[in-house]
Amino acid sequence: MRTRLLVTGGAGFIGSHYVRSVLGGTSSGEVAGVSVTVLDKLTYAGNLANLATVADHPRLRFVPGDICDPDLVGELVKDADQIVHFAAESHVDRSIAGGDEFVRTNVLGTQTLLAAALRHGVERVVHVSTDEVYGSIAEGSWPESHPLAPNSPYAASKAASDLVALSYHRTHGLDVRVTRCSNNYGPYQFPEKVIPLFVTRLLRGGTVPLYGDGSQVREWLHVDDHIRGVELVRTAGSPGEIYNIGGGTELTNRELTALLLESCEAGWNRVEHVTDRLGHDQRYSVDWSKIRDRLGYRPQQDFTAGLARTVGWYRENPGWWQSASPDLPVGG
Ligand code: NAD
Repeated sequence: MRTRLLVTGGAGFIGSHYVRSVLGGTSSGEVAGVSVTVLDKLTYAGNLANLATVADHPRLRFVPGDICDPDLVGELVKDADQIVHFAAESHVDRSIAGGDEFVRTNVLGTQTLLAAALRHGVERVVHVSTDEVYGSIAEGSWPESHPLAPNSPYAASKAASDLVALSYHRTHGLDVRVTRCSNNYGPYQFPEKVIPLFVTRLLRGGTVPLYGDGSQVREWLHVDDHIRGVELVRTAGSPGEIYNIGGGTELTNRELTALLLESCEAGWNRVEHVTDRLGHDQRYSVDWSKIRDRLGYRPQQDFTAGLARTVGWYRENPGWWQSASPDLPVGG
């Protein structure tokens, strides 16, 4: 019998990598015995072109729709064995400009999904959370037991959904597993996040905005390593457990900018220093020893090679990012 996966947000950056991967559309190889239904609202961040390589796959069904719609969610969950939940509003800057959609989709949408999962006896839910729920850490790394102290409205809405997801395990015994991953990079990322934003602006001949003094530190993990971790948690993790996913490369935003300028053959004269983001977290860092020791997870993508391939992909696919973001300002 095939495992019927319901994948929310499967037309976004990470969700589409996951779907292409389990259906054999990437080099990581097909996962035997699964069929996939994608539920995605196709917001500005969702793009059917992200699923083009598997669009005709006989075991893929795409359903446009909102995870906050209880009737639609109930109908799809009824026919699912397991859920992998990626759908979210995901951009910190947008959450600072207005948090409504973040609370609606990330909190209410997750609750709608969990209630349906419980009602229909779904066997497993993987909730994809983020390292940003922990807040900011000057030194060291957070273990999964660290209290949550999110700062941005995005991170707060993800923390709320993460806790609601865990509450369904503790209260109802639903098999919920939570992942908290560091910053991802790779192809198909909507060009509002720093790496594709900078690369596409540089490729268009424009300038890039660097927040404050650029001293904030982020850990960069290739999206393929993230989804490998998510799939390990789905197949080999334990109910009610949280797994940090990390092992990427730590860089200040200034160091990252230098690397991106170099890969696009541009100089520092293309960088504009802009006022720092409100409440900008200084550093994130997850302790990922649990997933390493218990599930055998190891990141496989070398950062230098992965970044070069990523920049190469944006260079070779201008049609994708120009249609994904026709209104993004050029330069300035
Ligand atoms: P994304 O913004 O690229 O994609 C989100 C997807 O969700 C889009 O396809 C969008 O159309 C869909 N969506 C949004 N609202 C919806 C709704 N109400 N109903 C149905 N679909 C809806 O995001 P991403 O970067 O791929 O992130 C995916 C998940 O991973 C998110 O939960 C995010 O919090 C988490 N995460 C992201 C990162 C990262 O670096 N990008 C790191 C750790 C965790």
